[in-house]
Amino acid sequence: MLEFEFPSVLSLQRARGQLLGRMSRELATCCGRADVFRCLGRVALPELGDWCDLDVLQEGVLQRAAAFRAPHGAVHGPPGNAPSLLAQRVARSGRPELCQGPCERVAVLLSSGEEELPRVQAAGPLDCMAVPLRWGGQLIGVLSFASREPEPHLDEDALALAEDLAGFIALALELERLRQELERTRHQAQRQAADFRTLLDVIPVGIGIAYERECRYIQQNRWFARLHDLPLDSNISLSAPDTERQPIRYLDEHGRALPPEELPMQRAAATGQEVLDVELDLEVHGQRRGTLVISAVPLFDEEHRPRGCIGTIQDVTARKRATEAQRFLAESSAALSSSLDTEQTSRTLARLCVPALATVAAFCGWRPEGTLGMLTVTHADPALQPLADEVARTFAIPEGHPIHEAMRTGRPRLIPVLEEAGDWYAGGEAQRQGPCKGLGIHSVMLIPLATSHGVAGVLVLGSPERACTEDDFTFAQEYAAHATYAIDNARLYREAREAVALRDEFLGIAGHELRTPLTALQLGLQRLVGESAVPGEAARLAKWAATCQRQGERLGRLVGDLLDVSRITSGRLPMVLEEMDLSALMEEVAARMGQELEKVGCRLVMKLQAPLTGRWDRSRLDQVLTNLVSNAMKYGQGRPIEITAGATPEGVRLRVRDEGIGISPEDQARIFGRFERAVSERHYGGLGLGLWISQQIVTQLGGHIRVESVQGQGSSFTVELPRWVED
Ligand code: ADP
Repeated sequence: MLEFEFPSVLSLQRARGQLLGRMSRELATCCGRADVFRCLGRVALPELGDWCDLDVLQEGVLQRAAAFRAPHGAVHGPPGNAPSLLAQRVARSGRPELCQGPCERVAVLLSSGEEELPRVQAAGPLDCMAVPLRWGGQLIGVLSFASREPEPHLDEDALALAEDLAGFIALALELERLRQELERTRHQAQRQAADFRTLLDVIPVGIGIAYERECRYIQQNRWFARLHDLPLDSNISLSAPDTERQPIRYLDEHGRALPPEELPMQRAAATGQEVLDVELDLEVHGQRRGTLVISAVPLFDEEHRPRGCIGTIQDVTARKRATEAQRFLAESSAALSSSLDTEQTSRTLARLCVPALATVAAFCGWRPEGTLGMLTVTHADPALQPLADEVARTFAIPEGHPIHEAMRTGRPRLIPVLEEAGDWYAGGEAQRQGPCKGLGIHSVMLIPLATSHGVAGVLVLGSPERACTEDDFTFAQEYAAHATYAIDNARLYREAREAVALRDEFLGIAGHELRTPLTALQLGLQRLVGESAVPGEAARLAKWAATCQRQGERLGRLVGDLLDVSRITSGRLPMVLEEMDLSALMEEVAARMGQELEKVGCRLVMKLQAPLTGRWDRSRLDQVLTNLVSNAMKYGQGRPIEITAGATPEGVRLRVRDEGIGISPEDQARIFGRFERAVSERHYGGLGLGLWISQQIVTQLGGHIRVESVQGQGSSFTVELPRWVED
């Protein structure tokens, strides 16, 4: 426990000035509360007694902060040492107190309660005093002293000195509190600044800050740097000195690069006005990066003069593209569905791509004469449209050219720098120097329109001023997908309408065709019934019966053809292959048709190499030969029909030639189509199925069939077959 020695008491009156001077000097060097406490102990003891306690108010409760016992010095906050009754009284009253005995009373006042009393009594204090510590009129603590000197040591003078001292201590403690608060605030500010920096770094918005009106230096956050693809520590300002300036350009909706003073941040800092939501295209190193929305708000000094600005940048490229894509889709769907004509559609398609996708757009497809050409070329600049039209007329697309490749493979291709795709001007020097070159295309994208019926054409999208990027490429392909869908729809619609028209026409013809043999059959049967009652009419009966039989066979063939149509379209035309002789089959067919041929006056000339064996389907070949001979007979105008057959290195060849009405070149291309006919139904019967079925059969047997004909002079149908077909 504490030991007390009682040094001689100084006259407080004399020492007062000295003590306060020392106190203020020492407090001036203090750093921290503990230091202030130590200084109090050092200076006040033993001058003002043997015992000094300092209690301070913490959150409204008086608590022991330090205790000093002479001669050993400080005893900080001993456990169990609560503020004394005297300190508590002074804290309540706010008035200084002095007690000069008797010693029992002093001991009671100096203890915190009964528990502590014996220990205090044992120390034997004789006088005590306590003064409040105040700051700004508020109590902040109590300073207590006790003395064990037999002479009254603590008197009114000592109390006055203690009060002065309390003033110093209160000041020192308050300064210390303020210092700590300042420190805390500084830490807090540092933390908040760090949090703010983190926020700036992670926020997906570009933020730039300039601290002077000219915006010569713009600090940027990470997102800002990323959008511009520049290092974080670079000066992004276009108002920077030439040596620091970055290779950036901001373009308005007309493609004009804004000078630095027109940029939003510069304008806000210079005028003190907010500049909001300015949409600009960003170009870095000559490459278009996307579209930005920039806003800037000015910063002001105390006199409300602009002193810089904060700018925000958002990348709206994706949003803009989505909107453009939707607009394009809506426009293109409407525009494309307004015409079912392919050329009109391709023109519309190319026109819609400009300028949303490209500065120049061409649609390449097959010309009627079978060459690949630019069917239409559209230029964003009307002044250059005549040149674009000339390109469409004159640019020949040679085999092996990238456009040919795209048409053949259906694969899109991006050519960022045209000069590097050496084969582009493969058409030679004329094209290199000619109008195509005149359009000054720098970069192209080839986008084939792959419909469900193959590649309908290739969209060539060109840009003269910059390289097309991967983004442009993806975007263009999306557009093409929409366009293809529209083209497919238009085609399906057209085909459906054609199919309906074809069906109606076919049903008319079929009805007519089936009625003819049926009428003949009914007539024959009527006569048979009528004549059978007349005796001796056997010869005539036989004639009517033969007619009925022929018409029955014809009806059978027509129905058979109709059945074959449904078999072929559903992919089921079964073949029964066997070794057989084609010449022998031809003889059989000719014999079977002899009567009919005779009836129309056609002489049959046959030059057959025999035998001509191979593995084929007998009844199907019979069908082909019968069809060819019937056609020659039907359209042969009663002139001779020549049939030749012989071997070839690849297999066999059979030709049926007539000298009849012949077929025009346009009709030759289509008569092998289903229900296709090249004659008027008033003059000639038929369903337009015979050649189509024949071609299906011959193709299935691995061969082919073709026609040569001169109108008015006759036709020649040639069938070539390999001898062996795999089962
Ligand atoms: P159809 O039953 O109409 O004869 P096909 O499919 O056999 O049907 O022939 C299609 C069309 O081809 C005929 O309608 C006719 O216009 C033409 N055609 C076929 N063979 C000949 C031929 N030998 N001479 C002239 N035209 C022919």
